[in-house]
Amino acid sequence: TRTHDEEDLPHATKRTMADHLRKYETLFTLTPQRMRMIVEAFKDSLELGLEKPEQIVPMVPTFVFGWPTGKELGDYLALDLGGTNLRVCLVTLQGDGKFEITQSKHRLTEEQKHDDGQKLFDFCAECLKTFIDTTLRDDKGIHLTDGKKLPLGFTFSYPCSQDKIDHGVLIRWTKGFGAANTEGNDVAAMFRKSLEKYELPVTLEALINDTTGTLLASHYVNPETKIACIFGTGCNAAYMEHVKDIPKMAKYKIDEKADIAINCEWGAFDSFEHEHLPRTKYDIIVDETSNKPNEQAFEKLISGRYLGEILRLVICELIDEGVLFLGQNTYKLESPYVFETAFLSLMESDPTDELLMIIGIFSHFFAVETTLAERQFFRALAKLIGKRAARLSACGIASIVSRMGYLDEGCSVGADGSLYNKYPKFADRIHEGLVDIFGEKGRNIITHHAEDGSGVGSAIIAAMTKVRKASGLY
Ligand code: BGC
Ligand code: MG
Repeated sequence: TRTHDEEDLPHATKRTMADHLRKYETLFTLTPQRMRMIVEAFKDSLELGLEKPEQIVPMVPTFVFGWPTGKELGDYLALDLGGTNLRVCLVTLQGDGKFEITQSKHRLTEEQKHDDGQKLFDFCAECLKTFIDTTLRDDKGIHLTDGKKLPLGFTFSYPCSQDKIDHGVLIRWTKGFGAANTEGNDVAAMFRKSLEKYELPVTLEALINDTTGTLLASHYVNPETKIACIFGTGCNAAYMEHVKDIPKMAKYKIDEKADIAINCEWGAFDSFEHEHLPRTKYDIIVDETSNKPNEQAFEKLISGRYLGEILRLVICELIDEGVLFLGQNTYKLESPYVFETAFLSLMESDPTDELLMIIGIFSHFFAVETTLAERQFFRALAKLIGKRAARLSACGIASIVSRMGYLDEGCSVGADGSLYNKYPKFADRIHEGLVDIFGEKGRNIITHHAEDGSGVGSAIIAAMTKVRKASGLY
């Protein structure tokens, strides 16, 4: 039950909520003009990353050369170490552009994310061992691998600088991870050590970013795909670049006609310098209280890990100012990260006039009652924060489109991640944003839900790598 209805509120209170909303509208709204400025700065950052090593946006050459043929064939294991879960997959590529997948999922604990890195990789190997032992035996208990080693793709979705496909030095942890003794080390070598420890019958063929996997997997089923994005716990994109346009790769003496997938690591755009992105004071608090202040500046305005926290900080400010939840105990709202991004989706999609789902969220999870005016305000606030995230995402996509000259011919963008898949209107808002940036031609750029890049994409890349290695190309 609610203590009072909007009708019961003094007129002044109603006007105050609306006034507050106007203030946040100004703070969180991105005009088309501002978006175009961000795109220009973004393009410069992408270019700098391709030119020289160790730039803010790393533009990592992944050593995945060109698109899959669709004829990739065989059984591959994929291990996906994401922001939230660890997944083990067995992918059977059928050679006709089709595939089958079997998988198991393990939730990662906060402790595992922050303990010693080698222990984290040991846990990965342990889960892989369980999967192999249970899944890869027939009903007589006979090992289906037949004494042969299975090829494995390791999807490790953190920024790594690569020199070859089965190697990668962790530049920095993101998404709240902080395992010790890992940054600056070759994570492929660390993982290989764990594989040996558990005597697993696998060969690590490739170290893969989730965006790269998504790019290849999406292209596998839809050859129009030229860009892939992840909008999940973290945020990033990959696309296919011409080797000749990557000055920092000149030293490798690779065929100038080749194309290579670039893992942009665009979540780092505007990190440290904070010159281009419109950060509010809530964004600055999120940044400064994170385990990685100043890093992943773009990601912190967009990804699922942070949107709920941004909204919570606004709410806490209004509680402190005595505007919200008058006379109620609000301690449950006062711990960092208790307000999940999933609540923003729910609030935006509440179909009832009374906003009953929002009543439920606040009473059930935070033990506070809300007035209709407050609920309308929360919904509007979620919309502002969600919309800003989508419009900034459009800026990132636009910068790649513009760099590669894809606007006229159009292109398809494979997108995945909880935000993209579950947040209502996220995709529509990206599309609107692209029209705000490019005008009507922006409609030529279409995002679509991508194939499972971290599983299937990883397998496809492992398959491509095996073929290349067999022909002496690595
Ligand atoms: C990581 C990227 C990853 C993205 C999406 C970011 O935090 O740096 O490597 O692709 O999250 O998972
Ligand atoms: Mg993932």
